[in-house]
Amino acid sequence: MATMLSNIMKNLGRKAATRLYPFEKRELPTTTRGHLDIEIDKCIFCGACQKRCPTNAINVTRDPKTWAVNHYACIVCGYCVEVCPKDCLLLRNEHLPQP
Ligand code: SF4
Ligand code: SF4
Repeated sequence: MATMLSNIMKNLGRKAATRLYPFEKRELPTTTRGHLDIEIDKCIFCGACQKRCPTNAINVTRDPKTWAVNHYACIVCGYCVEVCPKDCLLLRNEHLPQP
């Protein structure tokens, strides 16, 4: 009982250890690899990103011109970003909103 009271008294003056998520969101570190995104207007559908992806998360077709990523398969390694000849892929520093 004495320990509990002492803990209560100690914690009364302290800041809350938790945030009121989702109203207060934590600022992410600048190195966070949140999710892969594409500027589709720049894409030439060459398929280099698809070939380089270690988890087969990207699917590119030339005819019709489509580009898609499976975010559940993507491990956010950034290899596709490195090989894209048009620099149209980027890793955004934020997580995708949950459905
Ligand atoms: S490597 Fe770049 S240009 Fe080529 S298909 Fe992928 S995103 Fe498009
Ligand atoms: S970031 Fe890595 S795992 Fe994700 S799509 Fe690109 S190459 Fe594939």
